[in-house]
Amino acid sequence: MNSGMNSEICEKSWLPRESCSHCRRPPHYQLRTFVFEGDRMVEVLKDGGPVHVYDSHFQFGTKKAELLLAALSVIHEFAASTQDDGTATVTSQVVVDEATGSQFQVWVEMHEDFVRSSGQHIQRPWLQIEALSIDSDRRIGLGVQKAKAICALEHDLREWVARGKALRQRATITLTLPRVNKRTVV
Ligand SMILES: [Zn+2]
Repeated sequence: MNSGMNSEICEKSWLPRESCSHCRRPPHYQLRTFVFEGDRMVEVLKDGGPVHVYDSHFQFGTKKAELLLAALSVIHEFAASTQDDGTATVTSQVVVDEATGSQFQVWVEMHEDFVRSSGQHIQRPWLQIEALSIDSDRRIGLGVQKAKAICALEHDLREWVARGKALRQRATITLTLPRVNKRTVV
């Protein structure tokens, strides 16, 4: 097992992580916005690159952003309390978003993760969030690194969602039609 040993050493400086200045520096997160096939999208970046170096890009659209924001308290708990060995305090539960009344389910499951430095597959805790109301495609999963990024970017993400709503409202053409008298059908 090399992975446990490797994780103690920084791949950039080859120093133990506790004494490496780059590892001790707090990460800088930012949102990169773009449009894909007409949909507004965001990618979450950590220090200018992917949040999780060996994982796919962390990108999503408005619906998933709204779901993440609604589940933020659970994401906070997951980011703060989950250990590498899979110990998590987040339990399976149904959460009601008080702002919108929408319901969603959260649970933690183990997720296969690929460690490129050692070529190993390991299991890591993964938070799943799924909306119970409206569309069934409103589901998103995230590991601890991504959860930390979402917590750090809460404000930016809220602004981005709000800006999208404002744009949609401006783009909607409102036609006022003359009122048609309804015939009474008996
Ligand atoms: Zn380092």
